[in-house]
Amino acid sequence: MCAKLSNIVNDISSILVPKVCFGCNTHLLGGEHLICTTCRNDLPLTDYTFNVENTVDRIFYGRINVKKANSFLFFTENGIVQRLLHHLKYKNQEVVGDFIGEWFGNTIRTNGFINAIDYVIPVPLHYKKLRKRGYNQVARFGQHIARHLNAEYRDDILLKTSNSRTQTTKGRLGRWFENKSLYTLSNTIELAAKNVLLVDDIITTGATIELCAKALQESKNIKIYVASMAVVPFLQN
Ligand SMILES: [Zn+2]
Repeated sequence: MCAKLSNIVNDISSILVPKVCFGCNTHLLGGEHLICTTCRNDLPLTDYTFNVENTVDRIFYGRINVKKANSFLFFTENGIVQRLLHHLKYKNQEVVGDFIGEWFGNTIRTNGFINAIDYVIPVPLHYKKLRKRGYNQVARFGQHIARHLNAEYRDDILLKTSNSRTQTTKGRLGRWFENKSLYTLSNTIELAAKNVLLVDDIITTGATIELCAKALQESKNIKIYVASMAVVPFLQN
C-alpha cells in the first residue's frame, strides 16, 4: 500500500514538475533517466581504451609519467556533455556522476585492458570548496569505477592544500610555481608500489592531472593511470 501510494505521489509530482532531459530539456518519457534516448544516442563517446594509445595519453607525453590515460566523452562547448557536467557541478546533480561512472566503469571492466588497480583516487577539492559544494563532483564517478575494478576508492590521501582562485591575477610563471604546491599527500607510504587510477571530470590542458600526478609520485614506485569523464576535443589531432 505504502509503495503504491508513493508511486502515485511520484507520478503526480512528475506531472506537476515534469522531469526534463539534462541534454535538451525535452520532457523525459517513462523509462528514460536523466537524458532522453536521442541525447543518449548522440553522446560523443571517445571509444578510447586502456590498451591503444590515444589523444589523452599524448597530452601527458614529456610532462609526467602516466602509464595510460583514457576519457569517456568528448567535451564540446554548448554540447550535451557540457550540460551534463554543468548539472553535476553546479546543480547538485550527483546522479550524473553515477550515470557516467557506472557506464564507464562497466566499459573498462568489460574491455579488460586495465587490471590490478589498487586505488581509485579523485582529483581533490580544497576543503572550503568541498564544504561549499557539499560534494566532490568526481566522487560518484570514481566510486563506480572502483567497484567495477575491485579497487578501493580513497579520497583521504591526495589533498588540495590551497585554493588557487586567488592566483588568477598573477602571471603565468608565478601561477605555475604556486600551483606546484597545491596538492600534497597525507602520507607517502600507502601508495608505494601501488597501481593508482587518478580520476577527474574534465581534462583540458592536463595541468591539474600533471600537478596531482607529481604529488602522487612522492610515493615510491607508484604507477599512475588516469581516467576522466571527458576530454576537450581541440586537443585531438
Ligand atoms: Zn535530450
